[in-house]
Amino acid sequence: MIQYEQAEDIKARIRRIAEILGFKHLDLERTACIRSRGSASRRVLARCHGLPRIMQAALPAKPLYVIEVIAERFDKLSREEQDKTLIHELCHIPKSFGGGFKYHDCVNRRLVDKLYGEFQKKAMGSGNGAGSCIWIPAPLRRASRAEIRPVAVAAFAGMTVQQAVPGPRPGANEDPAPLP
Ligand SMILES: [Zn+2]
Repeated sequence: MIQYEQAEDIKARIRRIAEILGFKHLDLERTACIRSRGSASRRVLARCHGLPRIMQAALPAKPLYVIEVIAERFDKLSREEQDKTLIHELCHIPKSFGGGFKYHDCVNRRLVDKLYGEFQKKAMGSGNGAGSCIWIPAPLRRASRAEIRPVAVAAFAGMTVQQAVPGPRPGANEDPAPLP
């Protein structure tokens, strides 16, 4: 069975990416970060989930997004590929922050490479070097991964984990690893 844990390290990284790239539409209070293990999808690195509008109306709940990284694949990537993957996932969240997605017709490698270049340049200029403030020492990382517990997102809307992360469809965008 797939296991979920809160990913504070990923949250810190998307906070920094959003600050540096000026993603002002991104409501970080309503964007949860989850690290999952045991996903059946063999090629997925990360996914962006949104709470569909009908669920927002039914609960009722405010818009909510979840950035999920698949531990078995995401954690093995280089720092650069991880940052690009996170930028890619954030690009799926539209300016309206309403629960929908921008799809791969506009979220593509060219856009991500451009934003990554900008991110790197501005991060270097910010004084303490690219990514230095988001480094989490290994013992802490291990500690947070060991805490396998229900997904953080449930807390936002009083939902169960299964409701909060309803699987790949509807309301999710899967991002496979590029073919070798
Ligand atoms: Zn994507």
